[in-house]
Amino acid sequence: MVLGDLDTFMSIDDYINAAKVHDIKYGEYVENSLCFVQKALDNLNTELLKINRVEYKPEIRIKNSNVLNSEVSSYAFYINSEVLSTCYKICFSKYVNLFINKNMKNLLIQKTLATTFQFIIYHELSHLFRAHHDIKNISVNQIEFIQSTEMDADLIAAAKIYRILQVDLKNLGLNDLDIKAIAFLSVVEVLYAMHLHTTGNEYQSEYQRLWDIFGKIIILNESPDIIPDQNFTSDISKRNGHYILGLLFKYREKFPTDDIAIFINDFLLYVINMDIKNNTTNRIWDTIKNTVACESNTNV
Ligand SMILES: [Zn+2]
Repeated sequence: MVLGDLDTFMSIDDYINAAKVHDIKYGEYVENSLCFVQKALDNLNTELLKINRVEYKPEIRIKNSNVLNSEVSSYAFYINSEVLSTCYKICFSKYVNLFINKNMKNLLIQKTLATTFQFIIYHELSHLFRAHHDIKNISVNQIEFIQSTEMDADLIAAAKIYRILQVDLKNLGLNDLDIKAIAFLSVVEVLYAMHLHTTGNEYQSEYQRLWDIFGKIIILNESPDIIPDQNFTSDISKRNGHYILGLLFKYREKFPTDDIAIFINDFLLYVINMDIKNNTTNRIWDTIKNTVACESNTNV
C-alpha cells in the first residue's frame, strides 16, 4: 500500500504510523511484520558471529512502490510497500476443504499467516547469510550465477518457514505432512502473487522456482537433526511429495476456474512435462554450492 509519494522511501516508524492512520488492522500487521524483520536480522547476526563472520547492519526502509519486490545489501534493506500489502491480503481459507484435521481448518480460516511475508524476508536474508554478493571466481556465467543463487536463497527460506511453523504450531497437534503443506502453500501464494506482477524478464519462471522449492520441502525430515534425503529416494520423501501434489490436484479439481487453481494447474503441467534429469538450475546449483558454502562458511 503506497502511503507517500510513489518511489519515495520512508522509515519503518513513519510507514507504520501512516499505515495505522489509514487502516488500524493493516497498521498492526505492518508493525508485527517489521518487528519480525528486525528480529530475523538480529538472529542472522548471532549466527554470523558464531561462524566468525562480520555482522550486517543494513538500514531497513520502506519504498512506496506498486512493484512486488525487496532488495538487500550489506548497508540497506529496501522493502517495497507492495510486499506488505500483498502479503496482508493473502488468505488461506480457500484451502480449508483440502484438510481433515480440525485445528488445521481453524488455522486456515482464522489467521492471516505470517509465512508469506516471512518467506520473502528469509529469501533476502539468505542472500546475506550465504554471502552471495561477495562471491567471485565461479565457473558459471553471470545469468547462471544469479539463477543458482536465487534458488539457493529460495531453498533456505522455504526450509526456514517450515521450521518456524513446526515451533509455532506445536500446540495444535498437527501432523508433519500438514505443516509441510502450509509451508508449501505459503510459497505457492507468494509465487502466484509474483507471477501476477512479473514483467517477463525474470531469470527463471515461478513454476521452476516452485518445483525446486517443492523438492526441498519434501526431503526435509521432521527432526532438523536428521540430514535431508538429497537423493529423493526415501519412503518419507516420496510420501511427502505425494501428499503435497495430491493436495494440489484436489484443489484444482474442486475449484477449476479459480485464479490460483489456474496457476496450480499450469505448475502441475510444467511438472508433468519437465525433463527432471535436465533440471538446469539444479545442475548449476550443484556447481556453485560448495564454493558458496566455503566462502560464506555456512552449510545448508
Ligand atoms: Zn533473491
